[in-house]
Amino acid sequence: MTEPEISATRTARCSCGGLRLSFRGEPLRVYACACLECQRATGSAFAYRARFHRNAVSEDEGERRRFRRVTEAGRWMDQIFCPACGSLVYMEAEAIPDELAVSVGCFSDSKFPPPAALFWARRKHDWYGLHEAVRLVE
Ligand SMILES: [Zn+2]
Ligand SMILES: [Zn+2]
Repeated sequence: MTEPEISATRTARCSCGGLRLSFRGEPLRVYACACLECQRATGSAFAYRARFHRNAVSEDEGERRRFRRVTEAGRWMDQIFCPACGSLVYMEAEAIPDELAVSVGCFSDSKFPPPAALFWARRKHDWYGLHEAVRLVE
């Protein structure tokens, strides 16, 4: 794949606008996860996230706090949120030290690339269907 001539810049922000991060170029990976931790963290039926390399960050502003949890594999994962409004804007994980996993909803972009996979598909709520291109990972 060749680098697109003009790379898009996208900005993710929290509800109050205090915490903002902009990213150059396309995400490395886009995925959804229906595990119970992601359901609790988002308050929704699944998380929808885009992973970007840290080098893709072009703007990074605002206060933030982090909540660390430990995965089943025993590795840490930080949920990073705005202390004023509570939006979970992105995550950092021990397993992917060079990347940020950004909450796609924070981009406010209905044309954002779709997830390639839904992880923890066995936790998926019955009411929603997914495009056939989305791979289900149990
Ligand atoms: Zn905020
Ligand atoms: Zn999850």
